[in-house]
Amino acid sequence: MNKIRLAHNATCEVCGKKQAVVYCDGCDKPLCEECRVFDIWCSGCGYGEPHVFCKACNENPKINIWKGL
Ligand SMILES: [Zn+2]
Ligand SMILES: [Zn+2]
Repeated sequence: MNKIRLAHNATCEVCGKKQAVVYCDGCDKPLCEECRVFDIWCSGCGYGEPHVFCKACNENPKINIWKGL
């Protein structure tokens, strides 16, 4: 489903200062290394699917639906 999308020539929309490296899986904002949050969603049998969120989406259970399971 979702894959990590790398950002190119974008500025982080969270801090507005740094060069963005990826897009948030939840809100599509470009995020720098400091504002992104990595999460591994386990889909069974030791296979983990990496996702990237901004801090707001990481805390939002409607977006990060795997968190807390
Ligand atoms: Zn940032
Ligand atoms: Zn987000």
